[in-house]
Amino acid sequence: MSHNLLTVAYIAASILFILSLGGLSNPETARRGNLYGIAGMVVALGATAFSREVSGYGVLLASMVPAIWIGGLIATRAAMTSMPQLVGLLNGFGGLAAVLVGYASYLNPDASLVGIDFTIHKVEAFIGVFIGSVTFIGSLIACGKLQGWVSSKAVLLPGRHLLNIGLLGAVIGLGYYYMTVGETAGLLPLGIMTAIAAILGSTLVLAIGGADMPVVISILNSYSGWGAAAAGFMLNNDLLIVTGALVGSSGLILSYIMCQAMNRSFANVLLGGFGNTAYVGKAVEGEATPTAVDETVELLETADSVVIVPGYGMAVAQAQHAVADITKTLRDRGAQVRFGIHPVAGRLPGHMNVLLAEANVPYDIVLEMDEINDDLSSTDVVLVIGANDTVNPSALEDPDSPMAGMPVLEVWQARHVVVLKRSLSAGYAGVANPLFYKPNVSMLFGDARSNVSAILSQLTQTAETNAAQTAVLTGAK
Ligand code: NDP
Repeated sequence: MSHNLLTVAYIAASILFILSLGGLSNPETARRGNLYGIAGMVVALGATAFSREVSGYGVLLASMVPAIWIGGLIATRAAMTSMPQLVGLLNGFGGLAAVLVGYASYLNPDASLVGIDFTIHKVEAFIGVFIGSVTFIGSLIACGKLQGWVSSKAVLLPGRHLLNIGLLGAVIGLGYYYMTVGETAGLLPLGIMTAIAAILGSTLVLAIGGADMPVVISILNSYSGWGAAAAGFMLNNDLLIVTGALVGSSGLILSYIMCQAMNRSFANVLLGGFGNTAYVGKAVEGEATPTAVDETVELLETADSVVIVPGYGMAVAQAQHAVADITKTLRDRGAQVRFGIHPVAGRLPGHMNVLLAEANVPYDIVLEMDEINDDLSSTDVVLVIGANDTVNPSALEDPDSPMAGMPVLEVWQARHVVVLKRSLSAGYAGVANPLFYKPNVSMLFGDARSNVSAILSQLTQTAETNAAQTAVLTGAK
């Protein structure tokens, strides 16, 4: 393939990636965004494979065929609830690729690089390996935390800030030594730095509590982008630089948005050790009021306005289809039904939106927290389905709560609230939830899917009976 054609293909792929990011910003256009991304990747891979620089097709096929097979298998088999872990793992592979490219390009540099160009190339390799190593190990630990293999509590080593600064100092010192030695003698400092970066990746992520994992995954996603951009510089590949910068900056913007959603600063999330305090909120007074399916159905049948607030439990129970059917039944009866989505509900950004879109809930009734919070006080019934931290009033009412200041869905402002979950236990952040004890809140205990299905079947029966009665009355007239 000629150089000009390659450039055109790379520009086309970059445009497709930008369109993909644009599409992914809205559930309505997300499917299209994904298709743009796939098309961009096919163009990028095809153009690179047929470029003049590539000749070892045997090696390329031997690595790509199993990779496509494994990728396809993982993507089709991974449960929706395991997506965050999968994203974390894939970020890690991005980091590992940057490490391998860094070593390869250090050991086998382009012969045309001399003088300042060679120096820049060495710096690029060092930085790429550093970012890649931090990202790889950090992602594995984040993935382990989300999967429950590593404790989700923040592990705070004594003097950890000093330790991290010391490790960073060692990396800079090794970098200086690496730059001054010639030929392949830099392999030793590069290797030691890789190990130190791996330790840094683990101390940084271990110190972050489970409740902040969404931000960590997004930051690591950003790191993997910067790692790819560094690899692009090493390989002199413009497309990799552009794509890496797109991933890096979009990950950073998403992390910033999520920090704002939790009322936290970047520094507070990255250094804070949030979620590690033994204090889990004020002692809760009063008793929770249990309710039953019949009572919940009665409330729903007389409600003019209903807001459904889903959380991680809805994803675990896979209750979204029954929830969508309840929504349709209530809307057919003339009730106003809307959804309130917290930015960090579930286990990954947009988790709830994806589930509701999969169940064909109309996009225009799925509202963000800021769009619905003011309307909650004039809402008849709020159904909280498997959400906990994202509706915890202690974030606003208890200044000592580990969640203090985090914006939450103020569901308790509604006339009646029914919370569907299996017990009174705390959510992901481990903070007790006073919502369950408020006078206008009742608890519908049990698996969300069984309860939602039971509510649906009673609502459908009543709707059918009403329709039959109306038909009889209309016939009698
Ligand atoms: P939470 O994780 O706070 O709570 C979910 C609740 O669902 C649990 O308390 C559990 O209670 C209940 N539940 C679990 N299984 C079922 C089931 N089968 N049927 C009914 N209920 C069930 O959920 P939220 O969505 O409110 O909050 C998300 C939390 O996760 C936040 O702390 C957020 O910071 C964190 N997080 C978010 C990420 C993101 O990007 N969105 C990523 C990583 C973490 P019980 O056991 O009593 O049933």
